[in-house]
Parts: sequence; structure tokens; C-alpha cells
Amino acid sequence: MLEIEGLEKSFGDRKVLEGINLQVGKGEVIVILGPSGCGKSTFLRCLNGLEPVQAGRIHYRSQDLAKPDVDFREVRQHIGMVFQNYELFPHMTVIENILLGPLKVQKRSRDEAQRQAEQLLERVGLLDRKDAYPRQLSGGQKQRIAIVRALCMNPEIMLFDEVTASLDPEMVREVLEVILGLAKQGMTMLIVTHEMGFARSVGDRIVFMDQGKICEISSPEQFFTSPSTERAQHFLDIFQ
Ligand code: ADP
Ligand code: MG
Repeated sequence: MLEIEGLEKSFGDRKVLEGINLQVGKGEVIVILGPSGCGKSTFLRCLNGLEPVQAGRIHYRSQDLAKPDVDFREVRQHIGMVFQNYELFPHMTVIENILLGPLKVQKRSRDEAQRQAEQLLERVGLLDRKDAYPRQLSGGQKQRIAIVRALCMNPEIMLFDEVTASLDPEMVREVLEVILGLAKQGMTMLIVTHEMGFARSVGDRIVFMDQGKICEISSPEQFFTSPSTERAQHFLDIFQ
């Protein structure tokens, strides 16, 4: 589904991604772990065209997303992304936020798109909030809406960057449940998280990054019981 080869990214003279290689299969859930500043967000942003890259290839749908001439407006319909800070438009209601992409970018009919939006809202338990404004919602609700907004474009791949990091603890679970549900339905996902229990239960593979490189790719079982690198062991010690 997605094949990344020799990806390099620098900000000025500073290399933040070096020689990243990763293949993601259809329906696979990849969890990316690593210390703050190791390049996790930058990596996801490169996959979605939010950061230009200096070298390497990103094969997706017989295109190379690392090339400068890619139409990311098109690509982002297939690769959805949700961020730490739900970027809902404050002046639009929930349903307007969700329908913006399907109507404006995908040129779908309002009836059809609205039906899908309502089904998705129902699934995350927020259909009754469809006419609310973002300020009237809790953080966990806003984040579930942000996920629905991405899903309503019918993406093939979802990228999640620390989507529970700004939430109060009691709201973390409701957002993680939604992502677990997507995993069960076979959505292909790359997830950056600091929720270790969640990482272990949702991930098919754990990718551990440090200082811009992938240090280790293992099964959750192996990673959490006996990681093969000292850096990963050190990282896990901090979380125990
Ligand atoms: P993580 O998500 O793992 O915490 P990031 O991908 O956000 O790490 O950052 C990786 C490195 O790149 C950090 O050293 C960060 O300071 C740097 N960085 C991120 N974005 C920018 C930017 N827009 N300009 C310059 N440096 C950046
Ligand atoms: Mg980050």
C-alpha cells in the first residue's frame, strides 16, 4: 500500500530524518514510538505532503510522493491525517466542518455526503452534536469529530499524530476506542502515540525511532517484552 525508501529530511543544515525505510501493507497498523524530537511528526507530515523531502522515495498508487510535483490535494483524499490539536474551523458547525472536504474538494452531492457523515457521527456517538460549534464540545468530542472529518473523505490510509496528547485522561479512552474500531475494520494506519497500552493492543508492528532514524521494527509482543536495542529499552524504562 505504501513503500518508503531512503527518506531524508532536513530543516536547513539539520537532518531530522535519515535513511527511513518502511513498507506498509494493506490493513496494517503501524505504531511509531520514540522520544520527543526524534522525527515522528515530521515523518508523518512528509507522507502527507506537509513537508518537502530532500531524498528518497514514497511509493503510493504508482506515484512517488517524494517528488516535488505531486498533487497533494488529490493525495490527501486518500491519506487522511489527524493531529494533536484538532483543527476544526471554529466558525462552522460540526456537520459543516465534516462536509467541507466531501463537498468542496470531492464535489460530492450534499445528500450522499451528509448521509455518510451522519453514519460516521453515529458510530462515534456524536450524531446529536452535529449542529454544535467546536467551542461547545469537549476535547475528546472535538478529536472524534476531527477523525470523522478525515474518514468522510473515504481515505485508504489514516495518519494519527499524538491525537490524545492534549486530552484530559478521562477523554483519552473514547478517542482510542474509535481508532481501535478502525483497526478492527481493516483500516491501514500509521499511529504516533505515547499510550503504551494502546500501542501494544492496536499495533501490528512497532516502529521505534530515535534521532531521525528507525532503530527497530518489531511485533508489539517482542518490542514490549524484549526490545532489540538499548535505546528502545531505555525508552520503555521511562514509561514504566
Ligand atoms: P517528534 O514528533 O518525534 O517529537 P518532530 O518531527 O516534531 O519530532 O521534530 C523532529 C526535529 O525536527 C526536532 O528537532 C524539531 O525541533 C525539528 N523540527 C520540526 N519541525 C521543524 C521546522 N518546521 N523547522 C525546523 N526544525 C523543525
Ligand atoms: Mg510530534
